[in-house]
Amino acid sequence: MNHTSIYGLTLDQLTAWLAERGHRKGRAHQVWEYLYRKRVTSFSEMADVHETCRALLEEHFVFETMTEHVKQESKDGTVKFLFKLYDGNLIETVLMRHKFGLSVCVTTQVGCNIGCSFCASGLIAKSRDLSAGEIVEQIMRVQLHLDAAGESERVSHIVVMGIGEPFDNFVNMSDFIRVVKDHKGLAIGARHITVSTSGLAGKIKEFADSDLGVNLAVSLHAPNNELRTRIMKINKAIPIEKLMDAIDYYLETTRRRMTIEYILLKDVNDGLEQALELAELMRSRSKLVNVNLIPYNPVDEHSQYKRSEQDSIRGFYDVLKKQGISVSVRLEHGTDIDAACGQLRSKQMRAANE
Ligand code: SAH
Ligand code: SF4
Repeated sequence: MNHTSIYGLTLDQLTAWLAERGHRKGRAHQVWEYLYRKRVTSFSEMADVHETCRALLEEHFVFETMTEHVKQESKDGTVKFLFKLYDGNLIETVLMRHKFGLSVCVTTQVGCNIGCSFCASGLIAKSRDLSAGEIVEQIMRVQLHLDAAGESERVSHIVVMGIGEPFDNFVNMSDFIRVVKDHKGLAIGARHITVSTSGLAGKIKEFADSDLGVNLAVSLHAPNNELRTRIMKINKAIPIEKLMDAIDYYLETTRRRMTIEYILLKDVNDGLEQALELAELMRSRSKLVNVNLIPYNPVDEHSQYKRSEQDSIRGFYDVLKKQGISVSVRLEHGTDIDAACGQLRSKQMRAANE
């Protein structure tokens, strides 16, 4: 069965693809508008597009490459989708409602090879990268869910924080961003898109040099190498010095604000001593960096980690604030529905294996 998604091409790629087959540029724009503005779900609905062009697209592309396996809605309006890909793999996508709009968290890989010791996604080795089309399709499926419910709201923000390491799937992630940003399509603002990485230094530099223009978040989670290596084995290959060097390159090149993510794990990295050490590490970068403290979402398989007490979170926050570091605490969504990315999937897989 054909599983090449029509959502996988950027407007430039679609234009070139059609041009190679004798279709003028305007045709690609027409198709694009049907895909992302009118949001049709079949080629036959593209009434203004010439029949031969429709037939050609129909022959090569499909709209749906995945099926909705599970959909959970939380009391706070968060919706979690578990999609089954054409090859049977399961991935997660989460819709969150905020005061500022609707955001969607997307998955970029099936599993993750970085294998952080606290994360549900890292429990399963990466079996493959998602294609650009499969990443865009997640956004489209959520948007179509909203359209179908008669909600006039549009997905306004995207966080690339689902299963996988986006910088380990750099090309497809970049094409995905080009599609969703496109002014003639979904037109999601670059400033409303954030990519989170576990800290692949070389790719952070490549990202800084690219024309993507979207926000960067780096998962630091510890202020020194000894502790970071203990919880994130990637730190052995890319220690903090190397990571900070890439971050500095990013800040100098883009002059853009960025986020440092810091999960708070009880009695592991949430002490005042670590808060001071983190403040020290951030000091020279404090004008452009915001530290986002993430309350840990316990994962059954990682029972050695517990969520920090409210007092510890407050204490950690206060130290950073006092040291002049910009800091926030991540608000949680859908705590009643296995909200941490990778958790619904790992639970489903466990149930399937039982
Ligand atoms: N691989 C990328 C992006 C996906 S993970 C990265 O690691 O940055 C997105 C964020 O969720 C990361 O900051 C990650 O450390 C965090 N995370 C992973 N497991 C979590 C959990 N159980 N509770 C809270 N945050 C978690
Ligand atoms: Fe992979 Fe990110 Fe999970 Fe680490 S935290 S295992 S990099 S998804």
